[in-house]
Amino acid sequence: MEPSDGTVGTAAGRRPTIMMIEDDQDLVAMCAAYLARTGFEFTHAGDSRSALRCLGEQHFELVVLDLGLPDGDGLDLLRTLRQRDMLPVIVVTGRGEETDRVVGLELGADDYLVKPFSLRELVARIRAVLRRSGADAASPPVIHLGGLVIDTGAHVIRAAGEQIELTPREYSLLEFLATTPGRVYSREQLLADVWESSVEWQAPATVDEHVYRIRRKLAGADVQAPRITTVRGFGYRLDT
Ligand code: CA
Repeated sequence: MEPSDGTVGTAAGRRPTIMMIEDDQDLVAMCAAYLARTGFEFTHAGDSRSALRCLGEQHFELVVLDLGLPDGDGLDLLRTLRQRDMLPVIVVTGRGEETDRVVGLELGADDYLVKPFSLRELVARIRAVLRRSGADAASPPVIHLGGLVIDTGAHVIRAAGEQIELTPREYSLLEFLATTPGRVYSREQLLADVWESSVEWQAPATVDEHVYRIRRKLAGADVQAPRITTVRGFGYRLDT
């Protein structure tokens, strides 16, 4: 496949399809964009009934199931899924819903996430469960974006064939922004998603320092695009 700007290619062909059962539209939109950019196909259902219909019609590699659904108990849906096949399931619960999490695991969920979770965490869990279930067709993708080639498996970024020397955190920040170019993130969001931290633990200026250093390194490698743009009063975004 000829790489072009912003495309994701996998070495191993077909991308695993993830089904997300969740009624929070904003969360779904964020996950859809991120999973698409990190090498997955994505389908979504907003309630139990459409989820069951969808699951009967299409093959999925993994289900991300929010236990708080508008038309019933997510645990009932999990029970039904478990009776049908061994499709891997990651359950999502709200903060403090300890019982749901425990029951979910007892019912055979493969893993769980507690809201709010970071997108990086979601993808890490999905990959781990797919690896364990032997369904991991997804080699981590290589992202071609402007003058950059981002090898998310090797954690290496190249420009014109030359590796750009980045610290692990600089790499993670640039990779994260590159998975959703054009989207603006506040410093707080970046701390949550890239540092897996928060303003209580980490100064937002940490983000600024890393952005500054990445910009300098991209300039040093003569990369015109993509570039990290400051969005005044809000945060940062990657422009291609
Ligand atoms: Ca919900």
